[in-house]
Amino acid sequence: MGKKLLLEHINVPGIQSLEVYRKMGGYASVEKAIKTMSPDEIVEEVKKSGLRGRGGAGFPTGMKWSFLAKPVGVPRYLVCNADESEPGTFKDRYLMEKIPHALIEGMITSSFALGANTSYIYIRGEYFYVSRILERAIEEAYAAGWLGKNILGSGYDLDLYVQVGGGAYICGEETALLESLEGKRGNPRIKPPFPAVKGLYDCPTVVNNVETIAAVVPIVNHGGDEYAKIGIGKSTGTKLISAGGNINKPGVYEIELGVSVEEFIFSDEYCGGIPDGRKLKACVPGGSSVPILPADLLLKTSTGENRLMSYESLSEGGFATGSMLGSGGFIVYDERACIVRSTWNYSRFYHHESCGQCSPCREGTSWMEKILHRLEYGHGRSEDIDLLWDIQRKIEGNTICPLGDAAAWPVAAAIRHFRHEFEYHAKYPDKVKDTKHTPPPMPARVAVG
Ligand code: SF4
Repeated sequence: MGKKLLLEHINVPGIQSLEVYRKMGGYASVEKAIKTMSPDEIVEEVKKSGLRGRGGAGFPTGMKWSFLAKPVGVPRYLVCNADESEPGTFKDRYLMEKIPHALIEGMITSSFALGANTSYIYIRGEYFYVSRILERAIEEAYAAGWLGKNILGSGYDLDLYVQVGGGAYICGEETALLESLEGKRGNPRIKPPFPAVKGLYDCPTVVNNVETIAAVVPIVNHGGDEYAKIGIGKSTGTKLISAGGNINKPGVYEIELGVSVEEFIFSDEYCGGIPDGRKLKACVPGGSSVPILPADLLLKTSTGENRLMSYESLSEGGFATGSMLGSGGFIVYDERACIVRSTWNYSRFYHHESCGQCSPCREGTSWMEKILHRLEYGHGRSEDIDLLWDIQRKIEGNTICPLGDAAAWPVAAAIRHFRHEFEYHAKYPDKVKDTKHTPPPMPARVAVG
């Protein structure tokens, strides 16, 4: 059984309440931080821990914190990105719903480290019921003196607010989130300037994901060095994975980074294998925006090593043979899955969620969706495959925010690894009109590139 840092007490009855959370040792990090550490010392511990952002990009959190500008007389903000909207990803919802005080404790400790006196949790509109759970927990924290004026008699003040978004995926992009938090349409800003210099209300701001902020609690409690001993290489600590698709035990798992992908899929401790003994076909290991990997490349790297659940191992070989850990949305496909249909489904989502500011994303996602739709429904042409490839190439790297890349990568990877399925759709339109058709068998791998 792997080490649990975030979900250790998840099954304790009443853990949503402050009383039970405190009995389990909750808020110790706030006491330790405020009474015995300086803000700089906390930042140093987070740097030593090697913690990387758990929202998808994997940027080192301590380094991000150290970029925060500190002009005199200007407020600083910590904003928690709880706009978890990536298809296949639901681990932040689970954490907030089951142990809301874990996030609130992390927010207080992190806000103290960053010198923020006002902080926000920006949560997606579809998680409205979770926002109510958080608000109740925040009320409890205020009543007990963990929030508000003069916390623990230290002279440190913190107000924490929950802001519910309108349900747009793009507001998970940090600058779009800040626009929305300011009451404007959630359009991403051109960077630089980065939020660390000019963020919320033009003030220095750190935006961190829910899981990232919750991970600060064990780092402060046990020390950055101890945290860094868990995991593998530069992938330190534990990670929440939301596992779904064709597996026996879908759900949220806390893994020590470095577990093999094979163990994660097939062991009873985690996903419990594929239903009815069907064959593993492919997997999107980090949320819908990361490249899909066929089974052989999912289980072994291009050099024949076991593929591990870590930032480095999952991206080994670049996009030619690898993918990304991303947000930890782990979507498994068995042999019955049609990759063209799945790719069309993702494309439909990104087309719908594009904010429309930049042409390659606005127009490109629309074209990709239309072409994939006609391939899926038996109206495709063989030249559509090269056209799709061309469009995704023109989107990637040419947009204001990463949504363009997020829309392009799944299409590129699906064609790269499953071109034969696209060709089958173009060649046999009558067979694929039944969307429950059996996909053609995987040809022997000749070359990957
Ligand atoms: Fe908007 Fe797409 Fe451009 Fe991002 S990439 S700013 S979502 S149009």
